Amino acid sequence: MNKNTDDGMIKNSRACGEIHRPIPNKHFAVINPSKMCQPMGAVQALLGVRGAMPLIHGSQGCSTYMRFQLCRHFREPVNVSSTSMSEGTVVYGGEANLLKALETIWNEYKPELIGVTSSCLTETIGDDMGLIIHKFRQEHHDEELPPIVPISTPSYAGSHVDGYDKTIKSLIENLAYSTKPNDKINIITGNVSPADIREVKEILELLDCESIILTDNSESLDAPHTDSVSFLPSEGITVDEIRDTANSKATLSLCKHADSGVKFLEKRFDIKSISGFFPVGLQSTDSFISSICELNGCELPVKLEKERGRLIDAMVDAHPYNYGRKVAIYGDPDVVAALARFTAELGMIPAIVCTGAKSNRFLDDMKSVAEESCSLPVVLEGCDLYDLHQQIKENPIDLLIGNSYGARIAKEENIPLLRIGFPIYDRLGAQRIPIVGYKAGISLVDTLANIILEKYYDESGHEIESE
Ligand code: SF4
Repeated sequence: MNKNTDDGMIKNSRACGEIHRPIPNKHFAVINPSKMCQPMGAVQALLGVRGAMPLIHGSQGCSTYMRFQLCRHFREPVNVSSTSMSEGTVVYGGEANLLKALETIWNEYKPELIGVTSSCLTETIGDDMGLIIHKFRQEHHDEELPPIVPISTPSYAGSHVDGYDKTIKSLIENLAYSTKPNDKINIITGNVSPADIREVKEILELLDCESIILTDNSESLDAPHTDSVSFLPSEGITVDEIRDTANSKATLSLCKHADSGVKFLEKRFDIKSISGFFPVGLQSTDSFISSICELNGCELPVKLEKERGRLIDAMVDAHPYNYGRKVAIYGDPDVVAALARFTAELGMIPAIVCTGAKSNRFLDDMKSVAEESCSLPVVLEGCDLYDLHQQIKENPIDLLIGNSYGARIAKEENIPLLRIGFPIYDRLGAQRIPIVGYKAGISLVDTLANIILEKYYDESGHEIESE
């Protein structure tokens, strides 16, 4: 076991609960990035709106990249349109292309909503998408056009996590309006897996909580096989539901980095806002469920209480194997912080955490995980997988958790990789494996412990002595 001391804690001069932020020492910009560009998150959010067509105002390569990446993770056909910018339109501006793309989409698909996201290119040349969309509306003043929402996603700043967040905010900003209270709770999930959204919906149903899920790609990105082909998401949040978010009694964001819409609703419509740790594991799921219970005035139903009890039981069963094991976790900031908290609950040591996003909130979350668990994590914020690999070489670990991009590190360092996050392209079923809530937590504990057993124990169940 890669322990630094007998009790499994890292021994150094730092005090218990402190995080360490090494400064990457390399002579190039980024190698193996741990993030994707903003339109990627925007498209994922838009695919959770019923009848929506994402339109990327940029070159064709952008939409090809999105479709390729989404298809190989979700194993679903994904339609993303493009304004197909070329050298000429870069020089003279993309107005004609955007107008033509809107015309074609409207005539061919009759979508219920068009989400227009910008790209590196069109942000750089400064196309005013709002103005061009206005012009399109004027040209079609006699037709009942769907909402066309401009979303600014300059890809040279931020990450796909910001793209998701900006899309949710733009949808609310452009569509929500106050009529009469609906007694519902808005839930902003963050760009999580379809299985996690289904899990959240199941928990809300058990709590008898009426909700509006922004956005809900649980069907469009994990669709059952049928005889018909739908070019646009046939399920998901509707435009009317987005409008109705202004009438809800509260908004709860499951991811702290997807809370701009929450803040907007609070400021504009005085709707109570809550955001916390992504509900993975015991404490974070407890907080999520108690927030709903408080807002809804309900008690914990027996079914959830039993699931909670079984999770604790699974944690106890797995403790002898998980205790003291050092883990490195990488990916989106909310998922990484939540998994670090959960692994610490299991007695593991979240030794190294890495996210490509620059985020003070991530640092704050990791400080609180370090304090709660009295661990001393190395925190790589705004870093890439090269930085992660260098840290793993310096501080050997027992287990790696993250997306498929870490597979080479795992192979080179001879450590197991538990695939969680996006994208996962070298294994099947990522869209069907939840990590949110008590029930998913039980499977996660078992999976983690079984990986440890497989790698570090012999067939008689004895721990293999490390060399
Ligand atoms: S980084 Fe820019 S050019 Fe590349 S896919 Fe994203 S938006 Fe397109």
